[in-house]
Amino acid sequence: MQNLRKLVVFSDLDGTLLDHDTYSWDAAKPALDRLAERDIPVVLASSKTAREIEILQEQMGLSGRPAIVENGAGVIGVPGIDKAETYAALREALDRIAPALRHSFRGFGDMTVAELTKVTGLPPDMARLAQARGYSEPGIWSGSDTELDRFIAVLSAGGMTAQHGGRFLTVSFGGTKADAMDAVINALCPDLTLALGDAPNDRTMLEKADMGVIVANPHRPPLPSLVGEKAGRITRTQDAGPVGWNAAVMAFLDTLGSAEGHRRNG
Ligand SMILES: [Mg+2]
Repeated sequence: MQNLRKLVVFSDLDGTLLDHDTYSWDAAKPALDRLAERDIPVVLASSKTAREIEILQEQMGLSGRPAIVENGAGVIGVPGIDKAETYAALREALDRIAPALRHSFRGFGDMTVAELTKVTGLPPDMARLAQARGYSEPGIWSGSDTELDRFIAVLSAGGMTAQHGGRFLTVSFGGTKADAMDAVINALCPDLTLALGDAPNDRTMLEKADMGVIVANPHRPPLPSLVGEKAGRITRTQDAGPVGWNAAVMAFLDTLGSAEGHRRNG
C-alpha cells in the first residue's frame, strides 16, 4: 500500500476523536494505528491549548505533527509560525465590555481551577493546562440568545469573533480552523485532505477539506446541511465520537486503497 496519495487527516477532538463524556479515544485506535502504519499525518484541530494538545499528541503517537490550537487562533508544529501573545490583550478587551453583557460570559480565565474542573470534567492538573492560553478565551454563555447577538456585535466592533464549539463559546481576534489549515497545508503539501468534526466551529474545516466527515454528537443539535454534503463530499457517521471516527476513517482508507489498486492495475 505504498502508492496511496499523500493524505493529511485533520480532526477535531472533543465529541469527535474524543468521547464527549470520557475523553477516551480508545475506540479510534484501530484507525489511528492504520494511519500511523502508512505515515499519514493526523493534525489535531481543537479549542484546546498548545500544552493540552502536546500531551494528547504524545499519548496518541503524534508528537511533532502540526496541530491547530485554540480553535484556529494558533498553529503549532509548523516552522516559521510565531506564537502571538494575544491572550492578555483579549482579556483586556473583554473586560471593557459593559458589565450587563460581560457578566453572561464566564471565560476560562474568570474561573477557578475547581470551577473549570466542574464544567469540563477535566482533572485539576489538566484544567490548569486549559487555562494556559495564548490566543483565545472559551467560556460559558448564560445569557439569552438576544443578548448573545448583542455580545457578538460588541465583540465584532472590537475586532473580535466568537465561535460555538462543542460546549463553549470561544472568543478570539479571529482565525478559524480553516484559516489555520492553510498554514498546515502549505507546510505538508498534501494531495488529499480529510477532515472530521462534530460542531459549528468545525464547519469551515469540513468545507475546506477535500472530504469531510460530520461525526454524530447526540449531545448537541445536528449540524445543518453543509456545502458539499449533497454532492457526497461531506458525509455523516452513524455512531458518535471515536466509534464513528474509527468507522469513517477505516471506510475512507478502504475506498482510497481500492481506488489506488485500480489505478495501479488499470
Ligand atoms: Mg468538537
